[in-house]
Amino acid sequence: KRNFTIAGNWKMNTTLNEAVDLVNKIRSGAADFGRVETIVCPPFISLSKVKELLEGTSIQLGAQDVFYEEKGAFTGEISPGMLSSLCRYVIIGHSERRTYFHETDDVVNRKVKAAIRHGLKPIMCVGENLDEKDAGATESIINRQISLGLSGIESADLLIAYEPIWAIGTGRAATSAYANQVMNYIRELLCKILHTGKALRIPLLYGGSVNAENITDLLSQNDIDGALVGGASLKPDQFLSIIRQAN
Ligand code: 13P
Repeated sequence: KRNFTIAGNWKMNTTLNEAVDLVNKIRSGAADFGRVETIVCPPFISLSKVKELLEGTSIQLGAQDVFYEEKGAFTGEISPGMLSSLCRYVIIGHSERRTYFHETDDVVNRKVKAAIRHGLKPIMCVGENLDEKDAGATESIINRQISLGLSGIESADLLIAYEPIWAIGTGRAATSAYANQVMNYIRELLCKILHTGKALRIPLLYGGSVNAENITDLLSQNDIDGALVGGASLKPDQFLSIIRQAN
């Protein structure tokens, strides 16, 4: 049986107090997590406090974004060096950042490189929107996002999250068969870009309306190694149930 990865992306939710409350509830179930690599990704302002609360548990910490410059006059941004002492993971290129903050594949690529340089593990997100899916363009979009996003990168110390945009926050997850088909395509792409041995070590996470009802079905698929969970990661009972089913 494979080891699965379950990551919670809290997005722009939780004040510091709410983050403390949420992580305390998740932590209380951690004894049952077994071999599941469990990651929580709170907003930047809560990372330091959540890090303290996770000490002594197996739960890992991630950030939701990072800038690619080391330091300097970039008002409002957070550098990889600032994060590397706080957390192990960082989400990069989430579709919400690509859409609302105009992140291009080049920006995503710079961020992934900068994160790896600082020993952070990127969770690089890719996925097609509904128009692209309907036009039969899913594979070409994924090909572009993966090839450009990983351009010049030889390390396999990263994760890929496949998040079809039409499934995010809609309550309509992709079918496990559809997700697996696209993720198998991603696996093949990775084998071409990196050496096969390396590519096979990269965990592929599915994201988009994952919940306690659909997680087992999704994880039954060959190329799905875990999930990036949004809404359900804010509900401790749901999130704990997802992790237990992955164990
Ligand atoms: P939902 O689980 O709320 O659909 O969000 C998925 C997501 O975007 C995780 O990064």
